[in-house]
Amino acid sequence: MYAFSYHAAHSLDDAVQRLREDSEARPLAGGMTLIPSLKHRLARVSQVVDLAPLSPLSPLRALEVGENHVQIGALVRHQDVADARELAQCLPGLAHLAGLIGDPQVRARGTLGGSVANNDPAADYPAAVLALDATLITDRREIAAADFFMGMFSTALAPDELLVAVRFCRARRSAYAKFRQSASGYAMAGVFLADLGPAGLRVAVTGACDGVLRWHAAEQAWAEGRLPGALHHPGLQADLHASARYRGHLAGVLFEQALTQLAP
Ligand SMILES: Cc1cc2nc3c(=O)[nH]c(=O)nc-3n(C[C@H](O)[C@H](O)[C@H](O)COP(=O)(O)OP(=O)(O)OC[C@H]3O[C@@H](n4cnc5c(N)ncnc54)[C@H](O)[C@@H]3O)c2cc1C
Repeated sequence: MYAFSYHAAHSLDDAVQRLREDSEARPLAGGMTLIPSLKHRLARVSQVVDLAPLSPLSPLRALEVGENHVQIGALVRHQDVADARELAQCLPGLAHLAGLIGDPQVRARGTLGGSVANNDPAADYPAAVLALDATLITDRREIAAADFFMGMFSTALAPDELLVAVRFCRARRSAYAKFRQSASGYAMAGVFLADLGPAGLRVAVTGACDGVLRWHAAEQAWAEGRLPGALHHPGLQADLHASARYRGHLAGVLFEQALTQLAP
């Protein structure tokens, strides 16, 4: 670990100010990704700005279910999303997804904002963000999900910009199916389905490619009353865990599994 200083943020403004003043500073949320990266010297920062001390009344900690939307603060932990009873009723796919992340320790510490800001290509939340046509709310603007994810570990966030909350559309029905990489729990592939009523079925895939993506061919197939079969995409990933062809096949299988979870 390289040396760095620590600042406990006492307000959202204070955290943003710190990040503005120091371009090498990074926000710290659950620390499940940032701390190991620092430990292994995969990241070097001058300062960590810890968001954990922010008040329980901060918008970063709120979970609000509205008539058309569900807004979840960036600091809400995976386990709290998985356990939120009102969410299980109105967006079961999202609650189910949160309960599939990592292991109990990761779910008890890791946050929605940390996961989305990190944009690991095998992370689960980005699939829900894209399929549920979410809006990313930061300290200074709102960003549509389609404009947020910019490829592997890259997002539209400026270095000094904090994600405050994610506003998800309340889909009529939602479901998520994932095939876990057995050591880490990350998705070898994960498919999120969101039935947006007149706007049709939205399908997003994580884990299979170099970043989360909308699976337009599957949406089209569904509209025509067909199943999509395998995912064909130039960005399909191959590594020691799975070939590109296998991941494409997996996406098709997971689409069908997720379909069985969609309540009528
Ligand atoms: C063993 C293990 C297994 C895992 N398995 C899975 C899995 O199956 N699926 C999955 O999706 N994830 C998995 N993860 C990742 C986990 O979900 C992390 O919690 C998540 O990636 C990061 O969230 P965090 O709150 O810990 O963020 P941190 O580690 O604190 O931060 C991550 C990054 O986001 C930035 N950041 C944090 N909060 C904000 C904010 N509000 N605004 C702007 N930037 C911010 C930080 O500066 C940092 O760059 C796993 C992690 C581990 C260690």
